[in-house]
Amino acid sequence: MSDQREERHQHFETRAIHAGQEPDEATGAVVPPIYQVSTYKQDGVGGLRGGYEYSRSANPTRTALEENLAALDGGRRGLAFASGLAAEDCLLRTLLVPGDHVVIPNDAYGGTFRLISKVVERWGVEWSVADTSDPQAVRAALRPRTKAIWVETPSNPLLGITDIAALAAVARDAGVKLVVDNTFASPYLQQPLALGADVVVYSTTKYMGGHSDVVGGALVVGDDTFGEELAYHQNAMGAVSGPFDAWLVMRGIKTLAVRMDRHSANAERIAELLSSHNKVTQVYYPGLAEHPGHDVATKQMRSYGGMVSFRVAGGEQEAVEVCNRAKLFTLGESLGGVESLIEHPGRMTHASTAGSLLEVPADLVRLSVGIESVDDLLADLTQALG
Ligand SMILES: *Cc1c(COP(=O)(O)O)cnc(C)c1O
Repeated sequence: MSDQREERHQHFETRAIHAGQEPDEATGAVVPPIYQVSTYKQDGVGGLRGGYEYSRSANPTRTALEENLAALDGGRRGLAFASGLAAEDCLLRTLLVPGDHVVIPNDAYGGTFRLISKVVERWGVEWSVADTSDPQAVRAALRPRTKAIWVETPSNPLLGITDIAALAAVARDAGVKLVVDNTFASPYLQQPLALGADVVVYSTTKYMGGHSDVVGGALVVGDDTFGEELAYHQNAMGAVSGPFDAWLVMRGIKTLAVRMDRHSANAERIAELLSSHNKVTQVYYPGLAEHPGHDVATKQMRSYGGMVSFRVAGGEQEAVEVCNRAKLFTLGESLGGVESLIEHPGRMTHASTAGSLLEVPADLVRLSVGIESVDDLLADLTQALG
């Protein structure tokens, strides 16, 4: 496959298109083929061609994606899963045994919170919530059996910003692993391993896939031994990415850089419009100078990304009405595709956090700003706000 030493000197945009994607040896196909296959002929018992024996353990299309993922984050090992939550489940069960403890953010993806508080907890794992934007608060939440600090930045849905380098120092001092869910930023906007994180988590369903046509997840690590441990569990647990899904994510990644530039540019314009709108009481976007995480975001991100949340004057009912009135912004869950989406987190993506420490404001609306004409998007929002 491709030469890793050469790749390290290439820029992100080049690695996105070429890392792990050498033209097919047999045919010269420029794009890695979809190896839709479960098993492989052995040349005598144990005589594997290229190390492939069974597609849960490894499949050439998935390998191409996994090498690409590792290269994009400057990591040693990338692993592709059936979904973001499958990746998280594999990571949590690799890191934690009964009695261990994990610190989670007070503003996390609802599915992450549900996995930890409703599923992993049943196996005797303890968790507590901390404001990860405050390194002191995270330090105070550590216990003797803490094994991991979980961070999401920017966070979902309140676009909170955590200083990754500062938390890496807290994690290093305590001898615990720092996990960064980098789904909102993507590796183009933010490089957690370079900032000191131990493992990066993705829902590749979002910006990596980028076209709302695939569900997938990934883990990337900077350490070979940890990578081996995760790969062992990936195979033992089995929630791998299928070859066609891996291929779709790979195709999306080739245009990640240009898409992210446009997502950010469009979102900045929309955040400005919302900030000056009299029916909007608060805007959450790290690109705004008044956002509490603005300086940290400027330091650790290339630009501020495509997610914008805001609160609507008139409360929950009016927030729901704004979602219903939007036309070009499609009412739906998920994010990170080329098309713009709008949703009400309290009743949709974050309904599972109701009544918990992670409950979101009822008058909150979340936008995934797509790459359509920003003028059309601004016009639609203006009419939806009424
Ligand atoms: C969507 C999402 C996930 C979960 O990923 P799935 O692919 O839906 O399983 C995890 N973290 C964040 C930040 C997400 O937005």
